[in-house]
Amino acid sequence: MYWQKERMNFGSSRSLMADEGCSLCGKPPVARLIDPERRLCAEHFVEDCAARVKAGIMEAGLLAPGDRIAVGLSGGKDSTLLLILLHGIVSSCTGVHLIAITVDEGIAGYREETVAAAVDLTTRLGIEHRIVSFSDLFGADLDVLLSDREAEACTVCGVLRRRALAVAAAEMGATHIATGHNLDDEAQSVLMNVLRGDLSKLLLDTSEGLPDCFIPRIKPLSVLSEKEITTYLLVSGAYTDLPECPYAGGALRGEVRGMLADLEFRYPGTRWRLIRSRDQVRNLLAEEVSQGVLQRCVRCGEVSSGELCSVCRVLGR
Ligand SMILES: [Zn+2]
Ligand SMILES: [Zn+2]
Repeated sequence: MYWQKERMNFGSSRSLMADEGCSLCGKPPVARLIDPERRLCAEHFVEDCAARVKAGIMEAGLLAPGDRIAVGLSGGKDSTLLLILLHGIVSSCTGVHLIAITVDEGIAGYREETVAAAVDLTTRLGIEHRIVSFSDLFGADLDVLLSDREAEACTVCGVLRRRALAVAAAEMGATHIATGHNLDDEAQSVLMNVLRGDLSKLLLDTSEGLPDCFIPRIKPLSVLSEKEITTYLLVSGAYTDLPECPYAGGALRGEVRGMLADLEFRYPGTRWRLIRSRDQVRNLLAEEVSQGVLQRCVRCGEVSSGELCSVCRVLGR
C-alpha cells in the first residue's frame, strides 16, 4: 500500500503516466526523476542510481589504491544497498578494499534478523565482515543500558553505535567509514539541528577527518532518497522485509520527517535546498569551524567536541 501510493507520486507531484515509456528506451517506467526531468525503466533507473553514487564518491576523491572502506552494515535497506553499490564500484578499482562492520546493539527481537541478513549479504558478496556488540564494548546490551531511560533510546544508541563503528574500523585498518545515510536522513538532520539550535552539530563536517585520531566518514547514499533506495531494491530483487527497530525514531525526528515529506511533495527539491543551505553556511564559516572544535576526551581519549566525549557523557550518567 505504501509502495503503491508513493510510486504514483515518485520524484515529483505529478503522477507517473502508465502510457509514457522510459525516456531512454521506451520500456515501462518505474520512476520519474525531476532533475533533469525524465522517466526511467527499472534497468535505466538502477544504472542512474549507481552512476550518481559513483560520481559522489569520485568527487570526494576516494577509490585511490590503498583505500580501505569500512561500510557500517546494519542489514537494513540503506546499508544493504550501500554495500551492493560499493561492491560494484570497488570491484573495478585496483588496490581498494571493502570491509563491512555490523554493530549489534543488543535489541531483543529485532537485531537477530538484521544481523542474519548482514551475514548473508557479506557471504554472498565475499566481503570481510566483523560484528561488534555493545555488550563487548560497553559492558551491556542497549536494552539494559536503556532500562530507566527509554525516551533517550535513539540518542544513546546513536552515540554508542558511532563509537562502536569507529573502534572496529580502526582495528580493521579502515581509511574511511561509509554509512548508509540517505537524502531524507540528511535533510531531516539539518532541520533538526536548526530546530534544536545546535549550530555546532549543524556545522561539524566529519568528512574531512583529522590526522591520527579520526577516520573520515562518507555518506555515499546521500544522493538518493528513501524512495529511490526502496525502488532500487524492489526492482533489483534485493528487497527484504525486515522488522523496524522497536525503539523507533525520536519524537522530533518523526515530526520533521512528516513535515519534510509533505514539503517535498508540494515543493520538489526542498530536501536538496536544505542540505545546500547547510553546505553554504559551512563553507562560509569553514575557517572558524575547522580548527579547534574537536579535541580529545579527558576520560577515554577519543575525539570529542568538548572536555568529555558524547559516549562518556551518555555512559557516565
Ligand atoms: Zn529504459
Ligand atoms: Zn570519552
